[in-house]
Order: sequence, then structure tokens, then C-alpha cells
Amino acid sequence: MLDLSYETPKPKVIAGAKHDWELVIGLEVHAQVASKAKLFSGASTKFGAEPNSNVAFVDAAMPGMLPVINEFCVEQAVRTGLGLKAQINLKSAFDRKNYFYPDLPQGYQISQLYHPIVGEGEVLVDMEPGIARLVRIERIHIEQDAGKSIHDMDPNMSFVDLNRTGVALMEIVSRPDIRGPEEAAAYVTKLRQILRYLGTCDGNMQNGNLRADVNVSICLPGQYEKYQETGDFSHLGTRCEIKNMNSMRFIQAAIDYEARRQIAIVEAGGTVDQETRLYDPDKGETRSMRSKEEAHDYRYFPDPDLLPLEIEQAWVDEIAASLPELPDAKKARFVTEFGLSEYDASVLTADTANASYFEEVANGTDGKLAANWVINELFGRLKKEDHSIEDSPVSPAQLAGIIKLIQKGDISGKIAKDLFEIVYTEGGDPARIVEDRGMKQVTDTGAIEAAVDEIIAANPAQVEKAKANPKLAGWFVGQVMKATGGKANPKAVNEIVAAKLGQ
Ligand code: ADP
Ligand code: MG
Repeated sequence: MLDLSYETPKPKVIAGAKHDWELVIGLEVHAQVASKAKLFSGASTKFGAEPNSNVAFVDAAMPGMLPVINEFCVEQAVRTGLGLKAQINLKSAFDRKNYFYPDLPQGYQISQLYHPIVGEGEVLVDMEPGIARLVRIERIHIEQDAGKSIHDMDPNMSFVDLNRTGVALMEIVSRPDIRGPEEAAAYVTKLRQILRYLGTCDGNMQNGNLRADVNVSICLPGQYEKYQETGDFSHLGTRCEIKNMNSMRFIQAAIDYEARRQIAIVEAGGTVDQETRLYDPDKGETRSMRSKEEAHDYRYFPDPDLLPLEIEQAWVDEIAASLPELPDAKKARFVTEFGLSEYDASVLTADTANASYFEEVANGTDGKLAANWVINELFGRLKKEDHSIEDSPVSPAQLAGIIKLIQKGDISGKIAKDLFEIVYTEGGDPARIVEDRGMKQVTDTGAIEAAVDEIIAANPAQVEKAKANPKLAGWFVGQVMKATGGKANPKAVNEIVAAKLGQ
């Protein structure tokens, strides 16, 4: 049912360089699992709590404490995998990634290096209507988040807040299939949209609930295709990884900077070092943080406190059966069922709240008209007051009521806007308001004719001019509309005016 015929965008080429360098980008997205409790403890994950108030003994790594897996977090990872059309591994296992950091009391992070729970999947990234790129997902593993070090509260001391310690993350690793800064942002946007539809991550980047490590390299035209054919990474350039990006704008700016930096090095005869870099938003540049660490630096080994994770196909099937309709499918359905343009369908399916609001309006009214009113009038009005669709003063039933009045010919588009404003500010049943306030469109041609006659009689000079120049008939139409308080049916007025002027 889903139409996946689309054009793939050309890779982004950086202008101003000696060669036509192309960009190659792969993202590791850390998505905080939407769950009330942490991955291995019952402590709350609530954001913004008093520092160190959501910490179980196991999170603080007290001696003798043992981790107990939170089944719901596993379910969320499986749901995410299914939503990304990925392979679900019935057997996965947890490993310890050992390193020292003050906000990591265990001295290791529990992660899944060798046997992740989710294997290969894909994300269709929409660039513009009809143009999209398929980005392959390499894997998704579950791991613990670390705590937070706070350096700006005291000039002489640093503080540690363990509230985030042990919160479940999904690390979603893409293949290096992204070819430009805009695509990287579009990929994160689409991924976030899918996670939100699934309810597996709230996608709040400001709170750090979704952050990305961005891997960037450059190559000459043709090299990427060779990598695609062979799967051999040596056709690609050396990559740098920009850590912990939590804004779409910064992701794009950092990629752009990084590409230019690497091109300058290579064109001057140098080589790019594989390293981890940090983006400084104030300076708009990336800085080296450390040279690339290798897996063996972390002394990964299977966590002896945790059994391998085994799940049953029947459970996976149950989760699969409970998946909601996802963005691509919803968008395709909106196009076919309601006759919307692909653009309007994307706007309306950006999130589920918008989509279900629209659907309620469109059921029983004309789909295109409904889309117009929701996107142009309602969204515009809500935006003005910083309202979200959830607290819209106009309910779907009320908006549908307004649209039905237009469809029936009871009110003109112009009066409908006035009516919308009344419903928005005062509430009420649209049909009732139109009745009570005499806003009904005059379609009675007798009444319109009378109004036209009156204006013609009062303006003989204008009539002469209009007879010589038919374009001036518009003036009469305007006068009639004015005289009838905008309630005359514009089509009827046009016809009658033309007839009376002998046109
Ligand atoms: P590591 O585990 O060392 O971080 P991976 O091989 O898992 O390395 O890759 C991490 C990320 O880097 C993936 O998203 C991958 O797509 C991306 N990546 C790998 N090679 C390149 C490259 N040459 N250019 C850009 N991104 C790359
Ligand atoms: Mg990595």
C-alpha cells in the first residue's frame, strides 16, 4: 500500500574547495527510553527532580547491589526496533564498558556491544515531496545513562547528580548513509517522529532525552558508491565523531564546519586523524577532545551480574500487533483517503495529536478543505498564542461544523473566518451562532438582484464607465458585498452584476 517510489537527493558537495568533495555521515543517536523506572532499578526517571533524589542503591553502586532488568525498557526497545522495520534478536547480552568518570559510580556502564537486542533496520528520510533517502540502521542496543557533573555552581568545587545514572537509553546506530547537514537534521527529525509515534522516547532534545554523536568524513565522487557495492569502509575517508549534539541547528552547523576543516587539511596535503571532537556553539567550531578510543580500551566483558537476555517470538509478535500506524503509512493514507497533497499530509502527520485532530475534522467534511482550515487557520491562530493543538479552544467538532456550513453554502469563506474567530474566542456551536447573528449567506437571487439594482440606480456615471470597461464591474460586486455585510453569495453577485451591466 505504501508508495516508496521516490528520488534520492544528490550528495551535498562543499563549494569553494579545489575538488568536488562529498560528505559521508553516520549518526549514533542516544534516545532515552520512555519509562517511569530506570533500566536496572526501580528509581524514578522524572526530569527536574531534586538532585540525587532519584537514586537507588544499585544506581549509586553500593557494594553487593545487583541489577534487575526492567522488562518494560526491553519492551520499548523491541517496539522501537519493530517501528524501524528492524530485525529483533531473541538473544542479546549485556557487557560492561569500563571507564572512570566521577558521575559513573560503578566504574563501568552496562551496555550491549557484542549482542545488541535489535539488528538491521531502516528509516525513510523525507527531504521534500517525492525526494527521500533510505538510511539504514545498523543496530540498536540498550545501555545505562551516566550521571551529571555540575561545574558551574561553585568556583572551587564540582558536584555530581546521580538522578540520570542508570536511566535506560537506546543507542540507535545508522550506517553512513547520510550525505549532507540538512539530511542529518531530517534524519534525526524523522527518527524522533517515529519514536514519538511509538511512545518509546519523548524526543525532548532540550532535556537531553535525544542526543546524537555525529560521524563525519569526506570522500571524492564515486568512492561512496564503491563502499556501497563492497561494504568496504576503506573506500571512505577517515571520520571524526562530534559528541553529544542536542540541537538540530548545531548538528548542521557542526557538520558544515567539520567538512570544511577536513577538506582544508586534505587539500593542504595532510591527513585527517580519527578523533572525537566537541562542538562549541559560541565559536561555531569543533575542537579535538580525544583521539579515537578503541573497544579494547574499555575492556568490555559480559556482565557477570546479568544473565543473557532471552525473549520469545510470541512476545515480539504481541508487541508488533500493538504498534500504532506509523508516519509513512499515515501520510500515504492521508494522501489517498483525503486527497491531500504530500506536503499537507506531511504537515498534518508531523505528530499524532495533529493527525488525529485533522482526522476528526475530515471525517464528514471535505478532506482538502479540512486540511486548509487546520493548517492555515487553526495552526496559524494557535501559533500566535503559543497554544498547542491539545489545548486548542476550537474542538474538531466545532471546526467541522464551520466547514460544513461552508460546504452547504450557508456561509462564504470570508464570513467563515469571522465565525472561526468567534468560536475561537467565545466558543459555541457554529450553526447556532450563524442563525442567531444572522450571518447566513444570501443565496436568494431576488434579494441580491434588488441590492444590485439599487446600486446601479444610485451610480449612473459608474455604470457608463463599466459598460465601456468590463473590468470595472468588480466595483459593483464590492458595493453589493458591502451592502449585504459580506453575506451575499459572491458567485451569484458576480453573475447578476454582469447580466445587469449587459456583459
Ligand atoms: P564505533 O563503534 O567505533 O563508534 P562504528 O563502526 O560502530 O564505530 O561506527 C559508528 C558510526 O560511525 C556509525 O554510525 C557509522 O555509520 C559511522 N561511520 C563509520 N564510518 C564512517 C565514515 N567513514 N564516515 C562517516 N561515518 C562513518
Ligand atoms: Mg561510537
